[in-house]
Amino acid sequence: NQPLVELDPEIAEVLTGELARQRGTLEMIASENFVPRAVLECQGSVLTNKYAEGYPGRRYYGGCEVVDVAESLAIERAKAVFGAEYANVQPHSGAQANAAVLHALATPGDTILGLSLAHGGHLTHGMKINFSGKNYRATAYGVDETTHRIEMEQVREAALRERPTVIIAGWSAYPRHMDFEAFRAIADEVGAALWVDMAHFAGLVAAGLHPSPVPHADVVSTTVHKTLGGPRSGMLLSNRAEQWGKKLNSAVFPGQQGGPLMHVIAAKAVAMKLAGTQEFAERQARTLQGARLIAERLLAEDVRAAGVKLVTGGTDVHLVLVDLVDSALDGQQAEDLLHAAGITVNRNAVPFDPRPPRVTSGLRIGTPALATRGFGAAEFTEVADIIATALIHGAAGSADEELLAGLRGRVEALTGAFPLYEGLAQ
Ligand code: PLP
Repeated sequence: NQPLVELDPEIAEVLTGELARQRGTLEMIASENFVPRAVLECQGSVLTNKYAEGYPGRRYYGGCEVVDVAESLAIERAKAVFGAEYANVQPHSGAQANAAVLHALATPGDTILGLSLAHGGHLTHGMKINFSGKNYRATAYGVDETTHRIEMEQVREAALRERPTVIIAGWSAYPRHMDFEAFRAIADEVGAALWVDMAHFAGLVAAGLHPSPVPHADVVSTTVHKTLGGPRSGMLLSNRAEQWGKKLNSAVFPGQQGGPLMHVIAAKAVAMKLAGTQEFAERQARTLQGARLIAERLLAEDVRAAGVKLVTGGTDVHLVLVDLVDSALDGQQAEDLLHAAGITVNRNAVPFDPRPPRVTSGLRIGTPALATRGFGAAEFTEVADIIATALIHGAAGSADEELLAGLRGRVEALTGAFPLYEGLAQ
């Protein structure tokens, strides 16, 4: 029972190093967040020791009476937060939740129809070498060539042409709302099931700041760790419990997984408790406000002159997609430049991207983690100007060490004013 620092100093150093990195930089990867201390406590608890195959009250192992309480609370709270009849909180991750959805809704070889990966879809929605593309006949709809938005008439045409068993609505990189009602109508027209993957925007839905897919979809899947701000993991919801509940449960266990991670499920219960609070809704409102302020700054004339645009010209959600097709900077260079200034983002392909996927012509910039850190309008305005200044100088070839030192100083002023995990040693 040696402490980590004695038993394995190399890994202890990783923990302290990563904490220092998170404290000292601006985290703007759209899929990341900072979990509350209570979530860290659950995940580092003895619940990790427990095997509990099965579901509460129906386990294949003894001694589950204590962890059953955690899973039942997580289920009830998830149902309440999203107004759903059914919840399964066992998926270890978003990808595993999605594997279970297809397991329940389709048979290998069936046709599925999702948003193209190149236009903002996710790997699990039909990418060629993902399970979804290998086991199913994966077809895709894209965004419109001029608006870069999902146009429902084009989705309908694709559905009529492909006759899918499952239509997938959801995205990893798309800055607008999807029209779930229209997706439902198309699914009904072609006799498909509708699966919505709300991994990215679930926190906004929980706060009532984004239309909910739950009333329209056969099944909704989500991660718990993006805008929702809980432990890394996945979850399933449905308002068609009679039709899908049993199938979904057996698709998760024993279909896709063995023993559930009870320490993570306890942390999910905590996250769902928080997601029902006013404080959470206020944080999601700041998340949206931050993304809008960044969009506004990047649409200003001095940034446009550097060849920088925004996909769809703005945002309705927690991220902006910067379009660098006309810029001297590519996605990789822009990501590296912001990293040198102390801001962490990821490069991302934009629709119809002329540059290769490893380089890309885009950046995905998200606000959930900084909103959790406490940032409001004043801080997001400052962050937006730091990003704008970096991109303007980067495109002009004038982002020298002096400029970067100045930007890092501005980043440090922000991180210093909003301490993260105070009192935590690792
Ligand atoms: N679904 C969507 C829409 C996502 O963006 C992601 C993660 O990026 C996932 C599923 C997969 O989640 P995980 O990384 O937990 O497997």
